[in-house]
Amino acid sequence: MSKQLLFIPGPVTVAEPVLAAMGKPMIDHRGPEFKELQASIVRKLQPVFGTTSDVLLLGCSGTGGLEAAMTNMFGPGEKVLVAPVGVFGNRFAEIARTWGVEVEILDTEWGKGVDAKALKARLEADTKKEIKGVVLTHNETSTGVQNPLGPLADSIRAHGAYSLVDTVSGLAASEFTMDAWGFDVVCAASQKALGVPPGMAMVAVSARAWDKMKTVKSPRYYLDLQKAREFQAIGQTPCTPPVSIAYALDVALDLYAKEGATNVWARHQRNTDAIVAFAEGAGLQLFAEPGMRSVTVTAIHVPAGVNGDEIRKKLRVEHGFVLGGGQEKLAGKIIRIGTMGAITQTDVLAMLGALEIELLSAGLKIQAGSGVQAAVRAFMGPVPA
Ligand code: PMP
Repeated sequence: MSKQLLFIPGPVTVAEPVLAAMGKPMIDHRGPEFKELQASIVRKLQPVFGTTSDVLLLGCSGTGGLEAAMTNMFGPGEKVLVAPVGVFGNRFAEIARTWGVEVEILDTEWGKGVDAKALKARLEADTKKEIKGVVLTHNETSTGVQNPLGPLADSIRAHGAYSLVDTVSGLAASEFTMDAWGFDVVCAASQKALGVPPGMAMVAVSARAWDKMKTVKSPRYYLDLQKAREFQAIGQTPCTPPVSIAYALDVALDLYAKEGATNVWARHQRNTDAIVAFAEGAGLQLFAEPGMRSVTVTAIHVPAGVNGDEIRKKLRVEHGFVLGGGQEKLAGKIIRIGTMGAITQTDVLAMLGALEIELLSAGLKIQAGSGVQAAVRAFMGPVPA
């Protein structure tokens, strides 16, 4: 099977024009072409983040962006409240601990989103303002949960703490309004909903976050955001940037603008709705609670008596579709289906058809076609009986 379509939640299937952009000849990263390229990317990224503040391009994966956010904003002796809802929220907390930042966890059962009332109550109880920062995951890729950010942002603003947000697997797939929400440092990465290969993190920084960073004394070098900002002002990056990824990102942002942000969001929602309908039609259980479901990754419980890894292997080897499995304590328990990247409605239907074939072959007692029919109906909207 040579052709593979990625339905993992990143990296994603990359559109032809984006891939082709990576074949452009190399340029001087300290020359006028890169300066223009960087400015073009930043200009197009700002509305995607919903900000007029700086957006910095870092030559690293998403985790580098998270580490940059944490180490530039906080140091030993400061406390942050982290509200993880899965693997990547825990990673953000781990980064904080690694750098000596004190961590308090606002715990949430996996599969659920952050309880806005619980966050509000915790922040209201912090009358001495010991909590200096609140750390959120917008879209938790390991569980298929997407936190509605508005209510969470309201209580953080009311408290006054700085906010760090991981939207690595969320940005560009639904509306993101950094400035309106009042977030301080927001992290994204190239290989997710923007549909670019891995290699670049994008970090947006609010005006007041720049002031805060000046007071943080903890060591940083490669991921020094203030240095990145100084170089960006002259159209450069401190170290050699991933130029080919920059070319690809610039084209991906043109495709995003051409399709239109609201159409891009609707596409992610529609493909997710079809996958959810498939699961419900086939009697499968979704992992994330209703109202908190991600539009970029859908997590489905592996039904009893079925080996999820075996199903995924068959899909990959015999059908050319690559799906995600569960991470850490969810290994073997869920299948995760991503909807980011250059995939069409036809691709989604074909993948779901193959998934249904393999579930039936594995002996699952469902009526043949029950999942796919539901997906077709979801795509078509209301149709005459
Ligand atoms: N946060 C989230 C929500 C993610 O989905 C990922 C990647 N799956 C990361 C952080 C880490 O990004 P990277 O693998 O690019 O370092």
